Amino acid sequence: MKHRLRYAPSPTGTQHIGGMRTLLFNYLFARHNKGNIVLRIEDTDTSRSKQEYIDDILACAKALSISFDELLQDGPYAPYIQSQRTDIYQHHCQKLLDLDKAYYCYTSQNRQYEDSDVRLGYDRSSRDLSKDEIKRYQEEYRKKNMRPVVRLKMPLEGNCILHDGIVETVQWNYKDVSPDPILLKQDGMPTYHLANVVDDHLMNITDVFRSQEWLSSSPIHLFLYSAFEWTPPKYYHLPLVLGEDGKKLSKRYGAMGVHELLKKGYLPQTLINAIALLGWSYDERSEFFTMEHLIRLFDVSAISKSPAVFNMKKLDWFNQHYIQEMERGALALLIREQCEQQYGKSFIGSSWAQDEKFLQSCAELVRSRIHTVQEISPLLDFFFKIPNIEHSIDMFQEKFSRNLVKMQYKGINDIVSSLLPECAVTDYEEVLAYAKRVETELRRFCQERQCSFGKVLMSLRIVLTGSSNTPPILPILVLLGKKRVKDTINKTKDYIDAL
Ligand code: GLU
Repeated sequence: MKHRLRYAPSPTGTQHIGGMRTLLFNYLFARHNKGNIVLRIEDTDTSRSKQEYIDDILACAKALSISFDELLQDGPYAPYIQSQRTDIYQHHCQKLLDLDKAYYCYTSQNRQYEDSDVRLGYDRSSRDLSKDEIKRYQEEYRKKNMRPVVRLKMPLEGNCILHDGIVETVQWNYKDVSPDPILLKQDGMPTYHLANVVDDHLMNITDVFRSQEWLSSSPIHLFLYSAFEWTPPKYYHLPLVLGEDGKKLSKRYGAMGVHELLKKGYLPQTLINAIALLGWSYDERSEFFTMEHLIRLFDVSAISKSPAVFNMKKLDWFNQHYIQEMERGALALLIREQCEQQYGKSFIGSSWAQDEKFLQSCAELVRSRIHTVQEISPLLDFFFKIPNIEHSIDMFQEKFSRNLVKMQYKGINDIVSSLLPECAVTDYEEVLAYAKRVETELRRFCQERQCSFGKVLMSLRIVLTGSSNTPPILPILVLLGKKRVKDTINKTKDYIDAL
């Protein structure tokens, strides 16, 4: 049997970690078993569904390299958008009415009531109306030009048993289940229960991975399957995803949109890896998995029943790992994107923007210092924004005694002027070689003058970058180039002399 899975989001908000976990697990199971995966848009809540959220679902899946075999208008069961399939649901609802498994309800009209049946407890007052009463209501509805909702005639007693692939056997007593949920709303649109079951059946879905949030809907769904005399798919109810505070994911604790995380500089492979571990593990030691690994290793029996915790620190840690692992050229590309966004013309107009080697050298200088791609551009600030000399001088005064600064200054200037290459050098290995030469000379200089090599480097860092915290300064010196370094030193000289 070919496995057929589906991701069935409601486009009422941007995709977040929880939704992506559901998608990823459906996808991994489908690909592991050489099955198919369908994207079905469950937009029956017309007032809250928006095209921009459908676009977000597609964009997030694409960013994480998750592909669908059937979606939108494309595939043997198209359309895969529920708002375009209302006649199908109405037809199936009629079948249930004919089988006396559903009934028109004339006694619960307002929407609030429809949505919170369980809490308010629908009193089933329309379930056993006499023929006369029905006639009277029909007349009244006709006059008001209103349509009654249709409700499912749930059993009043007995048990419903679910054999779930993760939470195993769950049993409900029908009297504790939502009393006669609505199937078809006044506007003729189906509710989630009807549309979801009809579509899973018609689209031949064999396996359903969804969050445990939906577990309480299962008795309704199972009863619907039996009412239609259909076989239900195999359900796998995934553990909840909680924030670090142990509560439902909130904005503060990880309920961030997937797109927002990508924009913040988390890499797609980081998100895939971290999301895969929300409720699944391979063994106690392995932490890093690429999509290929996950497809190969994915095993339902390793999915946990208890809630998973989404941890932002762990996400940073994964991201740092993948940044470290990234090829130099790939990181250079991200640096270019970041700098274009951050510095605009002052980057694009510079000779560096076209210099792949420069960007690659920057990649090596920053990669061990960042958790996210977004942290790159501030570390390279000084290349594209000339540091404010007065500010640097203030930092000098804070850090060192005047004499030390003055004394070092001349020597450093000489060394730098004599050792830096005339032409720009940006190839990383060459940059390191020049940096090494400058380092050897500076060390000798420091020994002769009996001053601290660390302090000398710090003073160079402050003059050239306006900051006391940068990637290694000697390679930066080489990348900045002799002219820029000398000019900056000369400009600073008057200030230093005046100290
Ligand atoms: N449309 C539901 C959602 O938004 C799908 C639930 C299910 O998978 O059955 O998550």
